[in-house]
Amino acid sequence: MTRGPQDEERGERTRRLAALDQAHIWHPFTPMQGWLEDDPLIIERAEGCELIDTEGRRYLDGVSSLWVNVHGHGHPAIDAAIAEQLSRLAHSTFLGLTHPPAIELAARLAALAPGRLERVFFSENGAASVEVALKMAYSYWRHRGEERPTFVRLENAYHGDTIGAVSIGGIDRFHETYRPLLFATASIPSPYCYRCPLGLEYPSCGLACAEALDEVLTREGDRVAAVVVEPLVQGAAGIITAPDGHLRRIADIARHHGVLLVVDEVATGFGRTGKMFACEHEGVEPDLLCMAKGLTGGYLPLSATLATSAVFDAFLARPEEHRTLYHGHSYSGNPLCCAAALANLDVFESEAVLASLPAKVAALARLLAPLADHPHVGEVRQRGLMVGIELVADRATKEPFPEHLQVGAEVARATRPRGAIVRPLGDVVVLMPPLAMTEPELARLVAATAAAIDEATIGALATLRPSAPQVAASRESL
Ligand SMILES: *Cc1c(COP(=O)(O)O)cnc(C)c1O
Repeated sequence: MTRGPQDEERGERTRRLAALDQAHIWHPFTPMQGWLEDDPLIIERAEGCELIDTEGRRYLDGVSSLWVNVHGHGHPAIDAAIAEQLSRLAHSTFLGLTHPPAIELAARLAALAPGRLERVFFSENGAASVEVALKMAYSYWRHRGEERPTFVRLENAYHGDTIGAVSIGGIDRFHETYRPLLFATASIPSPYCYRCPLGLEYPSCGLACAEALDEVLTREGDRVAAVVVEPLVQGAAGIITAPDGHLRRIADIARHHGVLLVVDEVATGFGRTGKMFACEHEGVEPDLLCMAKGLTGGYLPLSATLATSAVFDAFLARPEEHRTLYHGHSYSGNPLCCAAALANLDVFESEAVLASLPAKVAALARLLAPLADHPHVGEVRQRGLMVGIELVADRATKEPFPEHLQVGAEVARATRPRGAIVRPLGDVVVLMPPLAMTEPELARLVAATAAAIDEATIGALATLRPSAPQVAASRESL
């Protein structure tokens, strides 16, 4: 293909935008020094499961635009629903007023959610939905005349980046800096069986980790408002998949001690684990449930905290009794977002999305199987369409690569020329394709990732042992 004047023009525009980005933008969760040293990838369009950059290059959206996209980009039904709502009402406050899309959506979510979660509180992101759950749980006890100022969290948990959500988080890389600002919590081990904190094997590791809750609640349960858990998968920790029964056991222990159970389905909700909500796999009925990422199909920012009537009723009183939930934002319950969420739920039905998942999940597992033998893959974890590939310097000892090599980031970088976008968590390469991704696209995504893992690990090895022969034979054929 010859480059015409149009291409030159595009190159110039990309360079101008890149320079402005690097001059003015502070990106989230991004080491900015490295960002300034690299050429930013500028995405300006998307179609289906592909993102398209300012140079017209296409990339498979291997992490659903950070775990939010569900049915692909530019889905006609969702686009149309947003446009249609825009022609009526873009925004009106949700404090003291209400509107049709939020009303319809709340009813649909209450019907869809596991258990008896009848009340829906809207906010704009996952972290906010968790903050709301914490306030609800704490106030619930206060309104009943009990002071319960603490929460139980899991090690390796991620519930968002605001201070309350960070207080119940457990990922040192993200959270350590802020420790002095956080409220006190009790913690139980993470069901990270590959590196079991209790030194046990899979699956007894995970169940023993859940059992630790009983000890904590026996000791200080009367000070605990709620236990907060990511069901089945600790996402941001590196797609740590809990053994079957882990969630069920936590729910049973919380119930036994009369402590509220908050389930954070921000990552796992909307089909990601193979069912609409992860709780359904183990028949768990939480008192509070947080949802966000996939709620609008990945189109607009919206989250929700769902509560049982038992929790809600504790807030019913005259204003002067001060049981109001003092929480809410300028854009709470935004109608455009609610319209997108309604369309998202419609697509789940009209395209029978959940029924299509078992075949896709199995196909993805088949595609990933060869990676388990890779000399630098310690473990491939998969739950539904959530995948974590943990890279290690040494499989036998599980020794990680030195942090300064940034092997996970190198893999992500090396997938781009191969036509895919992935984003790692440390040295765990994450794949979280939209539920709409087809089997041929999944195959391309896994092939690009496998080739990138080869390239990055061979590069890392060359740095580690410059004189040694390259032991990791190229696996470009994967
Ligand atoms: C991403 C995530 C959050 C935070 O959601 P934001 O919309 O990024 O604030 C909370 N909990 C879990 C489990 C998540 O994966």
